[in-house]
Amino acid sequence: MSGPADFAAAKPPSIFERLRRNFALRLNLWHALIFIACNGLLFLLVYYVLVAAIERKESEVLEARLKEYALIYQSGGLSGLRRWAAQNKETGRQAQFFVRLVDRWNQQFVVQVPDDWVSFRDVETGWEGYRRQVGVIRIPKDEERDFALVSMGFADGSLLQVGRSANSRNTLLRPVQRTFLLALGATVLLGFTGGALLAHRASRPLRQIIATARSIIQTGQLDARVPLRESPDELNELARLFNTMLDKNQALIKAMRESLDNTAHDLRTPLTRMRGIAELALQDPANAAKSREALADCVEESDRVLGMLKVLMDIAEAEAGMMPLQRERVEIGALLAQVIEVYAFVADEKRIAVQREFSEPRHAWVDANRLRQVFGNLLDNALKYTPQGGEVRVRVDHDPRHVIVRVCDNGIGIPAEEQDKIWGRLYRGDKSRSQRGLGLGLSLVKAVVEAHGGRVSVASESGRGSEFTVWLPGVTGA
Ligand code: ADP
Repeated sequence: MSGPADFAAAKPPSIFERLRRNFALRLNLWHALIFIACNGLLFLLVYYVLVAAIERKESEVLEARLKEYALIYQSGGLSGLRRWAAQNKETGRQAQFFVRLVDRWNQQFVVQVPDDWVSFRDVETGWEGYRRQVGVIRIPKDEERDFALVSMGFADGSLLQVGRSANSRNTLLRPVQRTFLLALGATVLLGFTGGALLAHRASRPLRQIIATARSIIQTGQLDARVPLRESPDELNELARLFNTMLDKNQALIKAMRESLDNTAHDLRTPLTRMRGIAELALQDPANAAKSREALADCVEESDRVLGMLKVLMDIAEAEAGMMPLQRERVEIGALLAQVIEVYAFVADEKRIAVQREFSEPRHAWVDANRLRQVFGNLLDNALKYTPQGGEVRVRVDHDPRHVIVRVCDNGIGIPAEEQDKIWGRLYRGDKSRSQRGLGLGLSLVKAVVEAHGGRVSVASESGRGSEFTVWLPGVTGA
């Protein structure tokens, strides 16, 4: 198992290991890759659209010329074409076009050749093949130039070809390629630096959480917290929840320490008493009756200690918010009737009438067993601190959000100066010392009711009686 010591002693990771584990770096790499890939795709798309547009434009011009020459050929035949070419030569118009007619016997008649046309041989080697070509074909001349050629066949088996020198695709697209490379360089730079900045910023809360957790583990200082920002994002929410969790843990540990201190302190008295009884018996070992009595006292005392321990632990648990509550919809009148039934014998013995002032069903969202304990303690106190022939009333009221239970008696009452103290652990009123009790009943009542999200209060007058009120979370429509 690894503990804080191992954690502190662990060898610091190497720089590569740190980079590999670096979430911000990984985020950045992914971000940059996606960014660059998207830009690359976009460029390719633009590039191909551009190529297609250039070629379309070129073929449109060539096809327009081809149609023109085809009309001349159809109306004037080869000689018509030659006349047209001669005219062109004179005027210098359309001299950049290559025009050739191949008849059905594959005899070729070159009508017009521009100065920069590819050497005849180049064209000739390919013309058989060109006969079969549809649309524009490009014949590369050199690095800079291409020739574009378009053909049209006629019913008499002849083929008319019109060509023109064009800028090579490379020449046209080289500036685009250069721009793209530049843009790609900028994209990579931007992708990485922007990504690094963003990822570093975005992962700051994570680093702060790690630093806080590490400092708590290494130093044991429970009050370290993650600094919060204004932003309402998830990482800030995570940091806030992490801090809340730390607050809760710290409160819990504090409560546990206090409860341990209190319990140790509270157990000292009964244990010292037990030790005293045993010691006294040991001084006179021959007296068997005294020894037996001492043992019986010890058993009684240890039962008391065990009982006290159980209640103390329940209180500590409830106060720390750790008490498991089996909440259900409970009809409070029925539950009170059960508790009153349990104490009927005690009430009869003291000739105390327990008045039930509830008839309408009222439901609360509570743990029935824990609530039996709460009302049992209150009723037990009411009967304990009310003289013979007295009266105890149990009443159920409600407000829009609570079911309210009142346990009233006309007993000895609680002096005003004691009323705040009675909820404290092991507190027993001056006039109650003659009665049995541990001084833990009301502490448990308060802790359990508050664990349910309710509250308690007391109103009392010395010599006239007391009224304990419990507010419990109601069930809507109860
Ligand atoms: P215990 O009854 O064991 O002493 P509790 O915690 O139940 O302990 O009560 C604390 C103190 O509050 C009692 O010692 C008593 O002085 C006072 N008290 C509680 N309930 C009543 C009551 N119904 N009438 C008068 N005093 C009461």
